[in-house]
Amino acid sequence: MALKTFPLVVERTSMITPSVLELAFRRADGEELAYVAGQFLNIHFEADGKATHRSYSIASAPRDGGTLDIAVAPVEGGRATRYLFGLKPGDEVNASGPFGRFVLRDDPPCRYVLVGTGTGITPYRAMLPGLADRLEGGEYTVELLMGVQYRKDKLYHADFEEFDETHEEFSYRACLSQEAQCEGAEVSGYVQNQFDGLKLNPENDVIYLCGNPDMIDNAVELLKEKGFELKQLRREKYLPARS
Ligand SMILES: Cc1cc2nc3c(=O)[nH]c(=O)nc-3n(C[C@H](O)[C@H](O)[C@H](O)COP(=O)(O)OP(=O)(O)OC[C@H]3O[C@@H](n4cnc5c(N)ncnc54)[C@H](O)[C@@H]3O)c2cc1C
Repeated sequence: MALKTFPLVVERTSMITPSVLELAFRRADGEELAYVAGQFLNIHFEADGKATHRSYSIASAPRDGGTLDIAVAPVEGGRATRYLFGLKPGDEVNASGPFGRFVLRDDPPCRYVLVGTGTGITPYRAMLPGLADRLEGGEYTVELLMGVQYRKDKLYHADFEEFDETHEEFSYRACLSQEAQCEGAEVSGYVQNQFDGLKLNPENDVIYLCGNPDMIDNAVELLKEKGFELKQLRREKYLPARS
């Protein structure tokens, strides 16, 4: 059965790091798209005469009148990369969704540890208003770990930094795997290197992992050694498409 698609019009394109493109869409049919923060869209297009699609996490929080934003990291020789980086304001694309279960759930009070590499940080940007609601009651805490290579690759840094400054129980740090020296809330190394310092506790922590599949596999192994069960580890792997 063919997937039901809907048209999106590009409202804005911007480079939000030297390599990552943000596309802001609106539905061309004037409808709102109901979605839960953390879900993704499929973008449909033709490549080499064949219909195909790729998945992108929605980086914007659901809000009345807001745009649907995605952040796209380029992949060399990639078909969606070529298509998406060629779009300009006013162009129309076909999308389907929303999809996915990588969302905040009805968890009892806990500590959320949100881990994302590269564009895998974007679902957490969409979750910020939902996290703010939970933090308000004082029963939840949140640790956000962003993994990128260099300082210049930090994504939506200003949003996370501002949220950190205005929410006492929220802590954000950027893990830079290739930068020679770190500043402020940056730390050196991979996101997984931070696990020991967080004193993770399977009784109280709920872990979200998003982005690079190798990071997720490696993190899952480390977390299992720390006593976490798979069901406590919510995962969104940015696996390459098969066609
Ligand atoms: C649920 C989900 C959500 C996703 N969300 C995002 C998102 O928010 N932002 C985002 O940028 N991407 C995201 N992705 C990845 C995205 O869907 C595409 O796979 C990516 O944009 C590459 O597509 P492409 O058509 O340009 O490359 P393709 O034409 O599919 O691939 C070209 C070649 O590069 C290889 N390749 C593909 N991806 C990679 C990679 N990451 N590293 C190295 N080699 C690769 C392929 O195997 C192939 O040989 C997500 C994936 C999933 C499954």
